[in-house]
Amino acid sequence: MSSVAEVNPNPLSDAFISACRQAGIPLTEDYNGTAYEGVSYLQLSVGGGRRCSTAVGYLHGRPQQNLRIATEALATRLLFDGSRVTGVEYMQGGQTRRAMAAREMIVSAGPIKSPQLLELSGIGDAHRLQTLGIPVRMNLPGVGENLIDHLQSRITYECTRPITLNEIMHNPLRQGWMGLRYLMTRRGIMATPSVTAQALARCGPDDARPGVKIQIGHLSGSDRYSGKGFGLDRFPGFNVGFFQLRPKSRGHLHIRSTNPLDDPIIEPRYLCDGDDQQVMLEALRLSRKIAQQSSMAALVCAKRGRGSTCRMNRRCSSTSRPRARRAGIRSEPARWASTPWRWSIRNCGCAASAACGSSIPR
Ligand SMILES: Cc1cc2nc3c(=O)[nH]c(=O)nc-3n(C[C@H](O)[C@H](O)[C@H](O)COP(=O)(O)OP(=O)(O)OC[C@H]3O[C@@H](n4cnc5c(N)ncnc54)[C@H](O)[C@@H]3O)c2cc1C
Repeated sequence: MSSVAEVNPNPLSDAFISACRQAGIPLTEDYNGTAYEGVSYLQLSVGGGRRCSTAVGYLHGRPQQNLRIATEALATRLLFDGSRVTGVEYMQGGQTRRAMAAREMIVSAGPIKSPQLLELSGIGDAHRLQTLGIPVRMNLPGVGENLIDHLQSRITYECTRPITLNEIMHNPLRQGWMGLRYLMTRRGIMATPSVTAQALARCGPDDARPGVKIQIGHLSGSDRYSGKGFGLDRFPGFNVGFFQLRPKSRGHLHIRSTNPLDDPIIEPRYLCDGDDQQVMLEALRLSRKIAQQSSMAALVCAKRGRGSTCRMNRRCSSTSRPRARRAGIRSEPARWASTPWRWSIRNCGCAASAACGSSIPR
Protein backbone atom coordinates (compact mmCIF):
# COMPACT_ATOMS: atom_id res chain seq x y z
CA MET A 1 0.00 0.00 0.00
CA SER A 2 1.36 3.42 -0.91
CA SER A 3 -0.11 6.92 -1.01
CA VAL A 4 -0.57 9.61 -3.63
CA ALA A 5 1.53 11.73 -1.27
CA GLU A 6 4.52 9.50 -2.10
CA VAL A 7 4.20 9.28 -5.89
CA ASN A 8 2.57 12.56 -6.79
CA PRO A 9 2.38 15.22 -4.07
CA ASN A 10 0.69 18.20 -5.70
CA PRO A 11 -0.57 21.70 -4.86
CA LEU A 12 -4.22 20.93 -5.65
CA SER A 13 -4.41 18.08 -3.17
CA ASP A 14 -2.47 20.06 -0.56
CA ALA A 15 -4.88 22.98 -0.93
CA PHE A 16 -7.90 20.66 -0.69
CA ILE A 17 -6.56 18.97 2.44
CA SER A 18 -5.85 22.33 4.09
CA ALA A 19 -9.29 23.63 3.09
CA CYS A 20 -10.99 20.59 4.59
CA ARG A 21 -9.16 21.21 7.84
CA GLN A 22 -10.24 24.86 7.74
CA ALA A 23 -13.80 23.65 7.23
CA GLY A 24 -13.55 21.58 10.42
CA ILE A 25 -12.69 18.15 9.04
CA PRO A 26 -9.85 16.43 10.92
CA LEU A 27 -6.77 14.94 9.33
CA THR A 28 -6.50 11.15 9.23
CA GLU A 29 -3.27 9.27 8.81
CA ASP A 30 -4.87 6.03 7.67
CA TYR A 31 -8.50 5.86 6.59
CA ASN A 32 -8.19 2.09 6.30
CA GLY A 33 -7.11 1.96 9.93
CA THR A 34 -9.05 2.50 13.12
CA ALA A 35 -9.93 6.18 12.51
CA TYR A 36 -11.32 6.45 9.03
CA GLU A 37 -12.93 9.83 9.54
CA GLY A 38 -10.99 12.76 8.13
CA VAL A 39 -9.10 14.04 5.13
CA SER A 40 -5.96 12.64 3.56
CA TYR A 41 -4.22 11.81 0.36
CA LEU A 42 -5.62 8.66 -1.25
CA GLN A 43 -4.00 5.35 -0.53
CA LEU A 44 -3.07 3.19 -3.50
CA SER A 45 -2.67 -0.55 -3.91
CA VAL A 46 0.32 0.03 -6.15
CA GLY A 47 3.70 -1.64 -6.32
CA GLY A 48 6.58 -0.16 -8.35
CA GLY A 49 4.17 2.32 -9.92
CA ARG A 50 1.87 -0.43 -11.21
CA ARG A 51 -1.62 -1.09 -10.00
CA CYS A 52 -1.86 -4.23 -7.96
CA SER A 53 -5.07 -5.76 -9.27
CA THR A 54 -6.53 -8.88 -7.70
CA ALA A 55 -4.89 -10.94 -10.43
CA VAL A 56 -1.49 -9.28 -9.94
CA GLY A 57 -1.73 -9.52 -6.17
CA TYR A 58 -2.95 -13.08 -5.86
CA LEU A 59 -2.41 -14.98 -9.09
CA HIS A 60 0.52 -13.83 -11.19
CA GLY A 61 3.84 -15.49 -10.47
CA ARG A 62 2.37 -18.02 -8.06
CA PRO A 63 2.28 -21.73 -8.59
CA GLN A 64 -1.22 -22.78 -9.62
CA GLN A 65 -1.24 -26.56 -9.55
CA ASN A 66 -4.64 -26.59 -7.90
CA LEU A 67 -6.15 -23.83 -9.98
CA ARG A 68 -7.39 -23.68 -13.56
CA ILE A 69 -8.43 -20.30 -14.91
CA ALA A 70 -10.67 -19.91 -17.96
CA THR A 71 -10.32 -16.45 -19.50
CA GLU A 72 -12.55 -14.83 -22.13
CA ALA A 73 -15.26 -17.08 -20.74
CA LEU A 74 -18.88 -16.15 -20.01
CA ALA A 75 -20.81 -18.16 -17.44
CA THR A 76 -24.28 -18.65 -18.90
CA ARG A 77 -26.07 -20.82 -16.35
CA LEU A 78 -25.60 -22.91 -13.26
CA LEU A 79 -25.99 -26.66 -13.48
CA PHE A 80 -28.03 -28.63 -10.95
CA ASP A 81 -28.42 -32.02 -9.45
CA GLY A 82 -31.90 -31.65 -8.00
CA SER A 83 -31.77 -28.43 -5.98
CA ARG A 84 -28.00 -28.62 -5.54
CA VAL A 85 -25.72 -26.59 -7.81
CA THR A 86 -23.03 -28.87 -9.18
CA GLY A 87 -21.35 -26.84 -11.89
CA VAL A 88 -21.48 -24.03 -14.38
CA GLU A 89 -21.98 -23.85 -18.11
CA TYR A 90 -19.94 -21.24 -19.93
CA MET A 91 -19.13 -20.00 -23.40
CA GLN A 92 -15.55 -19.70 -24.54
CA GLY A 93 -14.26 -19.20 -28.08
CA GLY A 94 -17.73 -19.82 -29.51
CA GLN A 95 -18.01 -23.15 -27.71
CA THR A 96 -20.25 -24.18 -24.82
CA ARG A 97 -18.25 -25.79 -22.01
CA ARG A 98 -18.90 -27.05 -18.51
CA ALA A 99 -16.99 -26.92 -15.25
CA MET A 100 -18.16 -29.28 -12.54
CA ALA A 101 -17.65 -28.76 -8.81
CA ALA A 102 -16.22 -31.48 -6.64
CA ARG A 103 -17.44 -29.82 -3.45
CA GLU A 104 -18.94 -26.36 -3.75
CA MET A 105 -19.66 -23.46 -6.10
CA ILE A 106 -19.19 -19.77 -5.36
CA VAL A 107 -20.94 -17.25 -7.59
CA SER A 108 -19.01 -13.96 -7.46
CA ALA A 109 -19.90 -12.26 -10.72
CA GLY A 110 -20.44 -8.88 -9.08
CA PRO A 111 -23.58 -6.95 -8.08
CA ILE A 112 -25.05 -6.86 -11.59
CA LYS A 113 -24.11 -10.17 -13.09
CA SER A 114 -24.56 -12.41 -10.05
CA PRO A 115 -28.34 -11.88 -9.87
CA GLN A 116 -28.46 -12.14 -13.67
CA LEU A 117 -26.76 -15.53 -13.58
CA LEU A 118 -29.05 -16.73 -10.79
CA GLU A 119 -32.18 -15.69 -12.67
CA LEU A 120 -30.93 -17.24 -15.91
CA SER A 121 -30.45 -20.43 -13.90
CA GLY A 122 -33.99 -20.45 -12.50
CA ILE A 123 -33.26 -18.93 -9.09
CA GLY A 124 -35.40 -15.88 -8.45
CA ASP A 125 -38.98 -14.70 -8.33
CA ALA A 126 -41.06 -17.58 -9.71
CA HIS A 127 -43.57 -15.38 -11.51
CA ARG A 128 -40.87 -13.30 -13.18
CA LEU A 129 -38.98 -16.40 -14.32
CA GLN A 130 -42.12 -18.11 -15.61
CA THR A 131 -43.02 -15.02 -17.63
CA LEU A 132 -39.73 -15.48 -19.48
CA GLY A 133 -40.22 -19.22 -19.83
CA ILE A 134 -37.42 -20.14 -17.44
CA PRO A 135 -38.02 -23.31 -15.39
CA VAL A 136 -38.06 -22.36 -11.69
CA ARG A 137 -35.38 -24.09 -9.62
CA MET A 138 -35.93 -22.02 -6.53
CA ASN A 139 -38.51 -19.33 -5.81
CA LEU A 140 -36.34 -16.59 -4.27
CA PRO A 141 -38.04 -13.20 -4.82
CA GLY A 142 -35.11 -11.31 -3.28
CA VAL A 143 -32.78 -12.06 -6.17
CA GLY A 144 -32.03 -8.82 -8.03
CA GLU A 145 -33.72 -6.73 -5.33
CA ASN A 146 -32.12 -4.47 -2.73
CA LEU A 147 -29.68 -2.86 -5.17
CA ILE A 148 -27.63 -0.26 -3.33
CA ASP A 149 -25.70 2.32 -5.29
CA HIS A 150 -24.45 5.81 -4.67
CA LEU A 151 -24.79 8.80 -6.95
CA GLN A 152 -21.80 11.08 -7.20
CA SER A 153 -22.24 14.78 -7.87
CA ARG A 154 -19.45 17.14 -8.76
CA ILE A 155 -18.92 20.87 -8.64
CA THR A 156 -16.39 21.96 -11.21
CA TYR A 157 -14.04 24.90 -10.92
CA GLU A 158 -11.75 26.66 -13.35
CA CYS A 159 -8.22 26.57 -11.97
CA THR A 160 -5.93 29.58 -11.99
CA ARG A 161 -2.86 27.42 -12.72
CA PRO A 162 -2.15 24.89 -15.50
CA ILE A 163 -1.76 22.00 -13.06
CA THR A 164 -4.75 19.82 -14.02
CA LEU A 165 -5.36 16.92 -16.36
CA ASN A 166 -7.49 19.09 -18.67
CA GLU A 167 -4.60 20.88 -20.31
CA ILE A 168 -2.43 17.75 -20.33
CA MET A 169 -5.06 15.73 -22.20
CA HIS A 170 -5.45 18.49 -24.79
CA ASN A 171 -1.71 18.79 -25.40
CA PRO A 172 0.18 15.87 -27.02
CA LEU A 173 3.53 17.25 -25.84
CA ARG A 174 2.42 17.34 -22.23
CA GLN A 175 0.90 13.88 -22.58
CA GLY A 176 4.26 12.65 -23.88
CA TRP A 177 6.07 14.24 -20.94
CA MET A 178 3.57 12.73 -18.49
CA GLY A 179 4.10 9.28 -20.05
CA LEU A 180 7.88 9.63 -20.16
CA ARG A 181 8.02 10.72 -16.54
CA TYR A 182 5.92 7.74 -15.54
CA LEU A 183 8.07 5.30 -17.52
CA MET A 184 11.32 6.72 -16.15
CA THR A 185 10.34 7.27 -12.53
CA ARG A 186 6.96 5.55 -11.99
CA ARG A 187 5.88 8.82 -10.45
CA GLY A 188 3.70 11.77 -11.41
CA ILE A 189 0.02 12.09 -12.18
CA MET A 190 0.04 9.02 -14.41
CA ALA A 191 0.96 6.93 -11.38
CA THR A 192 -2.27 7.93 -9.62
CA PRO A 193 -6.00 8.08 -10.27
CA SER A 194 -7.43 11.48 -11.25
CA VAL A 195 -8.86 11.70 -7.73
CA THR A 196 -5.99 12.25 -5.31
CA ALA A 197 -7.35 13.21 -1.91
CA GLN A 198 -10.57 12.60 -0.03
CA ALA A 199 -12.45 13.51 3.11
CA LEU A 200 -14.74 11.10 4.92
CA ALA A 201 -16.87 13.59 6.77
CA ARG A 202 -19.94 14.18 8.87
CA CYS A 203 -22.41 16.56 7.27
CA GLY A 204 -23.79 17.93 10.49
CA PRO A 205 -22.83 18.19 14.18
CA ASP A 206 -25.51 15.63 15.09
CA ASP A 207 -24.13 12.94 12.81
CA ALA A 208 -22.80 10.02 14.82
CA ARG A 209 -20.29 9.08 12.11
CA PRO A 210 -19.12 10.21 8.65
CA GLY A 211 -21.91 10.00 6.08
CA VAL A 212 -20.27 11.41 2.96
CA LYS A 213 -17.09 11.21 0.96
CA ILE A 214 -15.81 14.42 -0.62
CA GLN A 215 -12.89 14.23 -3.03
CA ILE A 216 -10.75 16.36 -5.27
CA GLY A 217 -10.45 15.36 -8.94
CA HIS A 218 -7.87 16.91 -11.25
CA LEU A 219 -10.18 17.39 -14.22
CA SER A 220 -13.40 19.09 -15.23
CA GLY A 221 -15.84 18.70 -18.07
CA SER A 222 -19.50 19.27 -18.74
CA ASP A 223 -19.84 15.84 -20.33
CA ARG A 224 -17.02 13.44 -19.57
CA TYR A 225 -18.76 10.71 -21.53
CA SER A 226 -19.09 12.65 -24.75
CA GLY A 227 -16.06 10.87 -26.22
CA LYS A 228 -14.68 14.08 -27.73
CA GLY A 229 -11.33 15.10 -26.22
CA PHE A 230 -12.20 12.94 -23.22
CA GLY A 231 -15.08 15.36 -22.61
CA LEU A 232 -12.71 17.62 -20.69
CA ASP A 233 -12.86 21.40 -20.57
CA ARG A 234 -10.26 23.31 -22.62
CA PHE A 235 -9.27 25.40 -19.61
CA PRO A 236 -7.45 24.10 -16.50
CA GLY A 237 -10.11 22.76 -14.20
CA PHE A 238 -10.79 20.51 -11.25
CA ASN A 239 -13.80 19.17 -9.46
CA VAL A 240 -14.94 18.61 -5.92
CA GLY A 241 -17.05 15.46 -5.99
CA PHE A 242 -19.26 14.11 -3.24
CA PHE A 243 -21.44 11.13 -2.51
CA GLN A 244 -23.18 9.32 0.30
CA LEU A 245 -21.46 6.49 2.12
CA ARG A 246 -24.65 4.69 3.15
CA PRO A 247 -27.58 5.52 0.88
CA LYS A 248 -30.97 4.26 2.06
CA SER A 249 -32.58 4.15 -1.40
CA ARG A 250 -32.94 0.68 -2.83
CA GLY A 251 -33.19 -0.27 -6.47
CA HIS A 252 -33.43 -3.52 -8.36
CA LEU A 253 -32.28 -5.24 -11.51
CA HIS A 254 -33.65 -8.16 -13.46
CA ILE A 255 -33.02 -10.01 -16.68
CA ARG A 256 -35.01 -8.97 -19.71
CA SER A 257 -34.62 -12.21 -21.68
CA THR A 258 -33.15 -15.67 -21.52
CA ASN A 259 -30.13 -14.52 -23.57
CA PRO A 260 -27.09 -14.31 -21.25
CA LEU A 261 -25.60 -11.71 -23.59
CA ASP A 262 -28.48 -9.30 -22.97
CA ASP A 263 -27.83 -6.74 -20.25
CA PRO A 264 -30.30 -6.82 -17.37
CA ILE A 265 -32.70 -3.94 -16.81
CA ILE A 266 -31.32 -1.86 -13.97
CA GLU A 267 -33.52 0.43 -11.90
CA PRO A 268 -31.17 2.13 -9.41
CA ARG A 269 -33.87 4.38 -7.86
CA TYR A 270 -31.31 6.91 -6.76
CA LEU A 271 -32.45 9.34 -4.08
CA CYS A 272 -35.86 7.72 -3.66
CA ASP A 273 -35.41 8.02 0.06
CA GLY A 274 -35.92 11.52 1.45
CA ASP A 275 -32.97 11.17 3.82
CA ASP A 276 -30.67 10.56 0.86
CA GLN A 277 -31.86 13.77 -0.75
CA GLN A 278 -31.12 15.66 2.45
CA VAL A 279 -27.66 14.16 2.84
CA MET A 280 -26.78 15.07 -0.74
CA LEU A 281 -27.81 18.67 -0.14
CA GLU A 282 -25.71 18.78 3.02
CA ALA A 283 -22.79 17.28 1.13
CA LEU A 284 -23.16 19.94 -1.55
CA ARG A 285 -23.10 22.65 1.08
CA LEU A 286 -20.02 21.16 2.71
CA SER A 287 -18.24 20.78 -0.63
CA ARG A 288 -18.87 24.40 -1.47
CA LYS A 289 -17.71 25.42 1.98
CA ILE A 290 -14.43 23.56 1.43
CA ALA A 291 -13.87 25.18 -1.96
CA GLN A 292 -14.54 28.59 -0.46
CA GLN A 293 -11.77 28.31 2.15
CA SER A 294 -8.73 30.56 1.86
CA SER A 295 -6.46 27.57 1.16
CA MET A 296 -8.28 27.04 -2.13
CA ALA A 297 -8.64 30.72 -3.02
CA ALA A 298 -5.42 30.96 -5.02
CA LEU A 299 -6.47 28.04 -7.25
CA VAL A 300 -10.14 28.81 -7.85
CA CYS A 301 -10.64 31.08 -10.84
CA ALA A 302 -14.38 31.08 -11.34
CA LYS A 303 -16.90 28.39 -10.87
CA ARG A 304 -18.00 26.71 -14.04
CA GLY A 305 -20.82 24.38 -14.85
CA ARG A 306 -24.32 24.07 -13.59
CA GLY A 307 -23.26 24.20 -10.00
CA SER A 308 -22.92 27.95 -10.48
CA THR A 309 -26.67 28.28 -10.95
CA CYS A 310 -27.39 26.76 -7.57
CA ARG A 311 -28.95 29.22 -5.17
CA MET A 312 -28.03 27.97 -1.73
CA ASN A 313 -31.14 29.33 -0.09
CA ARG A 314 -33.54 27.41 2.06
CA ARG A 315 -35.26 25.71 -0.85
CA CYS A 316 -31.97 25.28 -2.60
CA SER A 317 -33.57 25.12 -6.00
CA SER A 318 -31.82 25.74 -9.25
CA THR A 319 -32.30 24.66 -12.79
CA SER A 320 -30.16 22.41 -14.84
CA ARG A 321 -30.40 20.00 -17.68
CA PRO A 322 -30.23 16.39 -16.39
CA ARG A 323 -26.75 15.07 -16.85
CA ALA A 324 -26.37 12.01 -14.70
CA ARG A 325 -24.30 9.29 -16.32
CA ARG A 326 -23.52 5.80 -15.21
CA ALA A 327 -19.86 4.82 -15.14
CA GLY A 328 -18.59 1.30 -15.53
CA ILE A 329 -21.79 -0.30 -16.79
CA ARG A 330 -24.09 0.36 -19.71
CA SER A 331 -27.26 2.13 -18.74
CA GLU A 332 -30.85 2.12 -19.83
CA PRO A 333 -31.81 5.70 -20.73
CA ALA A 334 -35.56 5.10 -20.58
CA ARG A 335 -35.21 3.71 -17.06
CA TRP A 336 -33.30 6.73 -15.87
CA ALA A 337 -36.21 8.96 -16.70
CA SER A 338 -38.37 7.22 -14.14
CA THR A 339 -35.94 7.56 -11.26
CA PRO A 340 -35.72 10.59 -8.99
CA TRP A 341 -32.10 11.30 -9.90
CA ARG A 342 -33.62 14.29 -11.66
CA TRP A 343 -34.22 15.58 -8.18
CA SER A 344 -30.50 15.66 -7.55
CA ILE A 345 -29.77 17.51 -10.73
CA ARG A 346 -32.57 20.00 -10.21
CA ASN A 347 -31.63 20.72 -6.63
CA CYS A 348 -27.89 20.34 -6.62
CA GLY A 349 -27.36 21.48 -10.19
CA CYS A 350 -24.25 19.40 -10.57
CA ALA A 351 -22.85 16.86 -12.93
CA ALA A 352 -23.45 13.43 -11.51
CA SER A 353 -22.24 9.92 -12.08
CA ALA A 354 -22.77 6.66 -10.33
CA ALA A 355 -20.62 3.74 -9.39
CA CYS A 356 -22.34 0.47 -8.85
CA GLY A 357 -22.63 -0.85 -5.33
CA SER A 358 -24.21 -4.11 -4.44
CA SER A 359 -27.35 -6.07 -5.02
CA ILE A 360 -27.90 -8.44 -2.19
CA PRO A 361 -30.28 -11.32 -2.73
CA ARG A 362 -32.26 -11.92 0.44
C1 LIG B 1 -16.78 3.36 -11.66
C2 LIG B 1 -16.74 2.61 -10.35
C3 LIG B 1 -16.05 3.16 -9.28
C4 LIG B 1 -16.00 2.49 -8.06
N1 LIG B 1 -15.29 3.05 -7.02
C5 LIG B 1 -15.23 2.41 -5.85
C6 LIG B 1 -14.49 2.95 -4.75
O1 LIG B 1 -13.88 4.00 -4.87
N2 LIG B 1 -14.46 2.27 -3.57
C7 LIG B 1 -15.12 1.08 -3.43
O2 LIG B 1 -15.06 0.50 -2.35
N3 LIG B 1 -15.83 0.54 -4.43
C8 LIG B 1 -15.89 1.18 -5.62
N4 LIG B 1 -16.62 0.64 -6.65
C9 LIG B 1 -17.37 -0.58 -6.38
C10 LIG B 1 -16.47 -1.81 -6.46
O3 LIG B 1 -15.76 -1.79 -7.67
C11 LIG B 1 -17.35 -3.06 -6.37
O4 LIG B 1 -18.13 -2.98 -5.20
C12 LIG B 1 -16.48 -4.33 -6.32
O5 LIG B 1 -15.68 -4.39 -7.46
C13 LIG B 1 -17.37 -5.55 -6.26
O6 LIG B 1 -16.52 -6.70 -6.25
P1 LIG B 1 -17.01 -8.09 -6.74
O7 LIG B 1 -15.86 -9.02 -6.70
O8 LIG B 1 -18.26 -8.46 -6.01
O9 LIG B 1 -17.45 -7.84 -8.26
P2 LIG B 1 -16.61 -7.37 -9.51
O10 LIG B 1 -15.40 -6.62 -9.11
O11 LIG B 1 -17.60 -6.70 -10.41
O12 LIG B 1 -16.12 -8.74 -10.14
C14 LIG B 1 -16.99 -9.60 -10.84
C15 LIG B 1 -16.20 -10.29 -11.94
O13 LIG B 1 -17.01 -11.29 -12.52
C16 LIG B 1 -16.90 -11.23 -13.93
N5 LIG B 1 -18.16 -11.73 -14.50
C17 LIG B 1 -19.39 -11.19 -14.40
N6 LIG B 1 -20.30 -11.97 -15.03
C18 LIG B 1 -19.64 -13.01 -15.52
C19 LIG B 1 -20.05 -14.15 -16.28
N7 LIG B 1 -21.33 -14.37 -16.62
N8 LIG B 1 -19.10 -15.05 -16.64
C20 LIG B 1 -17.80 -14.87 -16.30
N9 LIG B 1 -17.36 -13.80 -15.57
C21 LIG B 1 -18.27 -12.88 -15.18
C22 LIG B 1 -16.66 -9.77 -14.25
O14 LIG B 1 -16.02 -9.64 -15.49
C23 LIG B 1 -15.78 -9.36 -13.07
O15 LIG B 1 -14.43 -9.58 -13.36
C24 LIG B 1 -16.67 1.28 -7.89
C25 LIG B 1 -17.36 0.72 -8.98
C26 LIG B 1 -17.40 1.37 -10.19
C27 LIG B 1 -18.15 0.74 -11.36
